[in-house]
Amino acid sequence: NVSSAERMASHPMQRFQFVVVGGGIAGVTCVEQLASDFPSAEVGLITAASHIKAVANFKQVSQTLEEFDVEERPPSVLQEKYPNVTVIQSAVRSLQADQHTLQTEDGRSVGYEKLCICSGARPKLLTQDQPYVLGVRDTDSVQEFQKRLSSAKRIVVVGNGGIALELVFEVRGCEVVWAVKDKAIGNTFFDAGAAQFLIPSLEAQRPPRDAVCKRARYTTEQGPEGNSDGGPEGGLHTFTAGGDRRRPGSGSTGAGSALGPDWHEGFLLRGAEQTPQGVRVEYECEVQEIFTPSDPLRPQPEADYGAWPVYVRLTNGRTVGCDFIVSAIGVVPNTDAFLQGNNFSLAEDGGLRVDDHMMTSERDVYAAGDVCSACWEPSALWQQMRLWTQARQMGWFAGRCMAANVLTQPIELDFCFELFAHITKFFNYKVVILGKFNAQGLGADHELLVRCTKGQEYVKVVLRGGKMLGAVLIGETDLEETFENLILNQMDLTPYKDELLNPNIDIEDYFD
Ligand code: FAD
Repeated sequence: NVSSAERMASHPMQRFQFVVVGGGIAGVTCVEQLASDFPSAEVGLITAASHIKAVANFKQVSQTLEEFDVEERPPSVLQEKYPNVTVIQSAVRSLQADQHTLQTEDGRSVGYEKLCICSGARPKLLTQDQPYVLGVRDTDSVQEFQKRLSSAKRIVVVGNGGIALELVFEVRGCEVVWAVKDKAIGNTFFDAGAAQFLIPSLEAQRPPRDAVCKRARYTTEQGPEGNSDGGPEGGLHTFTAGGDRRRPGSGSTGAGSALGPDWHEGFLLRGAEQTPQGVRVEYECEVQEIFTPSDPLRPQPEADYGAWPVYVRLTNGRTVGCDFIVSAIGVVPNTDAFLQGNNFSLAEDGGLRVDDHMMTSERDVYAAGDVCSACWEPSALWQQMRLWTQARQMGWFAGRCMAANVLTQPIELDFCFELFAHITKFFNYKVVILGKFNAQGLGADHELLVRCTKGQEYVKVVLRGGKMLGAVLIGETDLEETFENLILNQMDLTPYKDELLNPNIDIEDYFD
């Protein structure tokens, strides 16, 4: 057993002009930017994971919408492409911002002139140290989920963001009770109308995944790749989820970074039951407590607590027994290793506050991706969401800001922070969200225009004072570029309001 002090003594201080912590999308993009801008500078990447995440097949879909694949690669790929990059595979244990040094878990000391922290975030868990509660974030946690699911008959999924949405849609052969705190599913991305549009997808017999997945998917080295009994106003809804998965389970063991889109591709998310099982949504409720049958503090029996390994008591008074619980209630920025002894300003969500140059409150320390909280005065059409597109944009912009600082050049906030734009896929529908797509921060001062064709498309436009501020486009609407332009140029649409969503009018021609 070698002590940390001994190991430190055996490693002299390694010095770099630039150090980036984290081998996820933000960190790797930042390193690439710095390494190509400064071919003669030494750039260090310190990452806890054995593999790095790289952006491949980048495609600028429109002015602000972008698509790319996420590939998991060995660190050597980065070092071969950029000879001035050194990858240190170890977790950062501590930071002395005033001395510009870092210590790693394997006992190294690293010095930097400029540092960028891109350590991502981890799932927020409903409760700590509860073996029946799982979070989903990286390949390892999805494998653990998959393993537990294979013998499960009922699981409870808690949360209403993108991960929960995808999970409930993907799981087969296991009853899912889905607890959402809102009046509608998918509240992070949509409103109740869009939720209504998507709900039949949970009821339908879904085709096997291979036949329907059109989106670029996350890859690793190894290549893994009911009947509604009411509206979404509240209460209980049941759906029947069917279909089966053909792709056998596989996946890399290199863990740490958050997965990319289509993260569930390559994982057979199948429970113990052979027959299709339902998804039951419990609206407007949160988890009040979690207990096991042997828990001395369990509520007095209102039911037989013997049938399930764990029980969830919801704030709507219902108690649900299940095999395990998936906590998909958001993420917590990974800041722990960096805080002690330093003076970082933290945002309410626990992220490192960064200004419009991606700079934290500590001198020469930048941050990007899920670990940071954008605390500049944002454009009226942009908001931070912890998504992989923003991780890439922030990592890239942080690299440019670090370079500009070294060269004492001015740099302005990039155009990509002008308009929030995200393209994804939910329930096999293409989903594009733009600007203030949920009328965020607009209060009652807005107007919605909606067009919906069941099973085909859902289009929602947010207007204020006749100007378009946001949109949700579900399905193959082909409206994204035109709407993006209308949002960016803030044209007064009052005279065209009646025609804007008229399906018989070619809106692209109309505004040409
Ligand atoms: P990460 O990718 O988490 O990388 C953090 C890196 O830091 C890792 O390499 C880690 O090993 C390293 N690290 C952490 N602590 C330390 C330390 N102390 N020392 C050294 N290294 C450290 N976004 C979308 O846009 N679309 C989606 O469809 C989508 N689906 C998702 C599905 C799942 C299951 C999850 C979990 C997330 C999903 N996201 C999606 C969100 C997206 O993956 C993240 O926003 C994005 O990956 C964040 O990138 P990042 O580089 O900031 O952090």
